[in-house]
Amino acid sequence: MKNTFILLNLLLFSLSVYAQRSTQIKLKDHAPVSIYNIPVSNIEKAKYPVVDMHSHIYPTSISEVEEWVKNMDAAGIERTILLSGYTGHSFDSLVSVYSKYDSRFELWCGLDLSDYGKPSFTKTVLSELERCHKAGAKGVGEITDKGQGVYIAFQNNRAEGLHLDNPLMTPIYEKCAELNMPLNIHVAEPYWMYLSNDTINDGLINAATWGIDLSADAIQSFDELIDDFSNAVRNHPRTTFIACHLLNCNHDLSILSKLFDEHPNLYADISARFGESGSIPRYMKRFLTKYADRILYGTDNGFSSDMYHTTFRFMETDDEHFYVPGFGYHWSYSGFDLPDEVLKKIYYETAKKIYK
Ligand SMILES: [Zn+2]
Repeated sequence: MKNTFILLNLLLFSLSVYAQRSTQIKLKDHAPVSIYNIPVSNIEKAKYPVVDMHSHIYPTSISEVEEWVKNMDAAGIERTILLSGYTGHSFDSLVSVYSKYDSRFELWCGLDLSDYGKPSFTKTVLSELERCHKAGAKGVGEITDKGQGVYIAFQNNRAEGLHLDNPLMTPIYEKCAELNMPLNIHVAEPYWMYLSNDTINDGLINAATWGIDLSADAIQSFDELIDDFSNAVRNHPRTTFIACHLLNCNHDLSILSKLFDEHPNLYADISARFGESGSIPRYMKRFLTKYADRILYGTDNGFSSDMYHTTFRFMETDDEHFYVPGFGYHWSYSGFDLPDEVLKKIYYETAKKIYK
């Protein structure tokens, strides 16, 4: 009897420790490993040649550039578009490094917004844009507006309150059309980042880190930002626009579908949104198949071999229920299993099309 009592107490104690431990695990620390015994693919080389339309200046030395080229060769990446965001001397020094790898890398420049607020703004932006074009820039990007005005990633020159459909942007878009320079534009953030950090936020782990503070001064809402961008695309049919990260519309791709249907000058890259897409693989397959001639492959995530392999797993396989460390969602992912014709377009053919 005494033994049974001790055993019972021990059991209750163990149960309470277990319950305490599991309730103490934070959602952000949850890093599950799939235990399903199902096919696991490791695709080291893309099935078709690839143009990576969305990357940045990651290397910090020539040997890292060389390493990148090796990784590109192994993965089947023919060409990488470097959305440098730079102008001026910074852009020129990139030209001197990357012109040696002319066939593998392509430099895009930023916009010189330093005269924003002065009468000289338009003249300064346009003359620097023309200069960068002459120096070798093939496009403009990445230009960002997350609600407080246009800014260039990797530079600190935000033009507060200058949104994408501001008349001051008109001569810039028209100059880009004239020079045959597409613009890569980052609009807003994924929709989860606009939702409150509560128990029903579907993307809470990322929202807690990247959430948009809608109480900030003069900040625009998600819908306003999409409207500004839509106006720009509509008002400048000669200009080629690339909405990066699927226009941050993963939660509702009908927004992007409608814009694709209305505006032949609009494209979108899929970079850095595999995590947001791998939760709805069948829908993605239908969407990517329908709009393959408007969608561009992109990575936006360094230059490691593993990074490329992960993207190919999403694009080419029907693998299910896998996790990718660093993506920051609590859900598992599945591949899109894209047909050959769709892969060819998204990897390569659509990219060729945007250079008229
Ligand atoms: Zn980027």
